[in-house]
Amino acid sequence: MTNANIMRMSELYVPTLKEDPADAEIASHKLLLRAGLIRKAASGVYTFLPLGKRVLAKVENIVREEMDAIGSQEIMMPALQPGELWHESGRWDDYGPELMRLVDRHDREFCLGPTHEELITALVRNELRSYKELPLTLYQIQVKFRDEIRPRFGLLRSREFIMKDAYSFHANQESLQKTYDQMSEAYARICKRMDMDFRPVQADPGQIGGSVTCEFMALAEAGEAELVHCTCGYAANTEAGDCLAQPTVHDVPELEKVATPEVHTIAELAAFLGIPESSTVKALSGKSGEGALVVLFVPGDHELNELKAERMADGFTLLTDDDMEAFGLHKGSMGPIGLPEGARIVADVSLQAVSKWVVGANEDGYHYVGARPGVDFQVDEWVDLSVVRPGDRCPTCGLPLEGARGIEVSQVFQLGDKYSRSMGATFMAEDNSEQPFLMGCYGVGVSRSMAAIVEQHNDENGICWPTSVAPAHVCVIPLTTGDELVQPAAEKLASEFAKLGLEVVIDDRKERAGVKFADADLIGWPVQVVVGKRGLEEQKVEVKSRRTGERQEVSLAVLADVVAFAQRNTKVWGSEVDLFAEIFNR
Ligand code: ATP
Ligand code: MG
Repeated sequence: MTNANIMRMSELYVPTLKEDPADAEIASHKLLLRAGLIRKAASGVYTFLPLGKRVLAKVENIVREEMDAIGSQEIMMPALQPGELWHESGRWDDYGPELMRLVDRHDREFCLGPTHEELITALVRNELRSYKELPLTLYQIQVKFRDEIRPRFGLLRSREFIMKDAYSFHANQESLQKTYDQMSEAYARICKRMDMDFRPVQADPGQIGGSVTCEFMALAEAGEAELVHCTCGYAANTEAGDCLAQPTVHDVPELEKVATPEVHTIAELAAFLGIPESSTVKALSGKSGEGALVVLFVPGDHELNELKAERMADGFTLLTDDDMEAFGLHKGSMGPIGLPEGARIVADVSLQAVSKWVVGANEDGYHYVGARPGVDFQVDEWVDLSVVRPGDRCPTCGLPLEGARGIEVSQVFQLGDKYSRSMGATFMAEDNSEQPFLMGCYGVGVSRSMAAIVEQHNDENGICWPTSVAPAHVCVIPLTTGDELVQPAAEKLASEFAKLGLEVVIDDRKERAGVKFADADLIGWPVQVVVGKRGLEEQKVEVKSRRTGERQEVSLAVLADVVAFAQRNTKVWGSEVDLFAEIFNR
């Protein structure tokens, strides 16, 4: 008996690999290659093989359902975009070498879209005219191109990848906020449906502009982002998080200049004086856009957050060694006392609580202990300057923050009028005035999510797909093929499952049982149903959960019951219901 809804391992193109591919460093990259889901075409460019394409389609569908559910409308914009739009927004120059640029036969500039703010703004600017037509949210699921400096980790950071990008247009901030909140909730649901352990985190707006933004991070050691999070729910990318460092005071009777020969770093200074690094103060030097000297101070056990420094002084850059020499600064012993005339002193807010600083003396081989702000020197400005780190106090509840690594799977932004203003996209407001749209943009890394799921769901034998995104729900494994009992029984089971709406694959290859088990574990079908001669004599098969490894002998009568039960209840397989749980929780 054959059934068109059943996939057959004997026919499927699933080239599995026994060994880890040489250039794959992390679990998801190795396993997606080994399980025969993807193949590399060039650095950061991948083909999705049949099973990989099935998973991708599942992720896309979850995203699509959640977008449709909040009234976002699907469109499809071109990947090839005219350069002139990017000149209008100013990003042709600002985006840098990540933008894949090309020239057509008429010498016109084009790029392969890394994102679509320009194209969508140009799309609506002449036809979305009145406040009455607002708000509007459009989305697409489409290929994106970014010439990443370091494509790596397979689908996590590739140069061609699939993104869902949505854009919203509003007459006022209230409306933008509403859609932004709905989108954020939809993004959380998308993560949950993909069975991700995730955190929405405070993020830095970066390249794209705007100010209000949140990243959704799948927690994983392989993630490139560093996060801090707290039991109260607060979480932030360390790039963006507010820092409440807890420097400690090194209490001494009076200001003293101490000789610190051969001391160049904070670690050396702390060791030399026998005090914790948190009792020292680190100095960094930079210049503003106009070239004025700015000297920055952070607690010794913290790093300067350059993004915060840039926000504090327009055009801020750190000084090079040559610059420092030109300003007459002493690298390794910079401090607030005795700086060149006109230097602006900016210190991290947490240092306000430190009455006596251990800090450089602006003289090679010397430091001050007991330097008092407000007495021995003046601080021009107190601002949040440090990179937040685990152990700092939570800005929301004050408890110590925990550290984690994460994969950014999606991000929501309030863009405001950045693109509508530069590109002249306006509408007629209720009071008849012409105003630029307020915009939001919202991206989900579809192919990156696929890898992030594998990063969170694998073991030494392979992938353990959550049912909602698995390439199929059940794999029926006849232990012998060509047997007049086992093969037909396996086929019958498979077609019963298929009738239920389950996606079924049968491993009908003429392979040893060991090979079939190894491949089934590697590919990661959520449920395996093993059909063997001995079991059938008692009308039984073995059902195994890939995720827990739990196995049970189940009588065919019970399986038939499950089938009937599920049919009666018209279950939606692959979302909430796990076949395995269905069988065993009865
Ligand atoms: P990253 O900081 O990781 O480079 P991004 O913040 O530049 O990403 P966005 O512009 O926010 O990325 O794009 C939306 C989503 O697209 C990201 O959240 C991510 O999931 C995905 N994405 C971005 N760059 C890549 C890439 N090189 N490969 C795969 N997915 C990507
Ligand atoms: Mg992002």
